[in-house]
Amino acid sequence: MELRTPAELKEMRPAGWFVAQTLATLRQEVAIGTNLLEIDARAHELIRAAGAESCYIDYHPSFGSSPFGKVICTSVNDAVLHGLPHDYRLRDGDLVSLDFAVSVNGWVADSAISFVVGDPRPADLALIETTQRALAAAIETAVVGNSIGDISAAIGGVCRGNGYRVNTQFGGHGVGRTMHGDPHVANDGLRGTGMKLAEGLVIAIEPWLLETTSQIRYDPDGWTLRSADGSRGAHSEHTVAITADGPLVLTAR
Ligand code: MG
Repeated sequence: MELRTPAELKEMRPAGWFVAQTLATLRQEVAIGTNLLEIDARAHELIRAAGAESCYIDYHPSFGSSPFGKVICTSVNDAVLHGLPHDYRLRDGDLVSLDFAVSVNGWVADSAISFVVGDPRPADLALIETTQRALAAAIETAVVGNSIGDISAAIGGVCRGNGYRVNTQFGGHGVGRTMHGDPHVANDGLRGTGMKLAEGLVIAIEPWLLETTSQIRYDPDGWTLRSADGSRGAHSEHTVAITADGPLVLTAR
């Protein structure tokens, strides 16, 4: 686990701003009829224009059948994480999750949003809103002296309190020169457990939920992760620095 100095946190700001700005732009532009490949192409164009570097394109963990090859994750409806952009045009009422991580000047920022294109189903809005509230509650607990377990418990508490079950297989992580570092930040856990939060720790906090199951399955591409029962998913993520003045959301939009 690495801790960042205030000067390093300052150096991390442009990555956070760029990720925030890109997600805000895509949120505005994506609509009924947008192809997922167009979202990837647009994100790639913005990356090139900014001189940023994608964290995804060459990413090849053990669970992926090949390097990711795209610059943004586009997960639609029952897909919730690691959605590999493919030839699909968004339809009225589709629930879209975009997860985006880049490096700017050698520092990474990572953030995700979910939204509905066209006419939303109330259940989808509730799901999205719950992931957002879980993220907000988690960020509030991201203060010096608390523990990783406090963040996990905050997320799990909001999610379970709203009748959802939580999958803890994938969660938050340290962010710095690379996209994934220690510590792991599980999306549920016990207060007061795990590592103490210290000044200068930078973590991605990323609650994600499925409507009626905690079970997941993978597409044959080895990437796109879906609910086991076809119910829909939502995802909210920010990169957060723990500072003497409290949590600093580097990817605030
Ligand atoms: Mg992410």
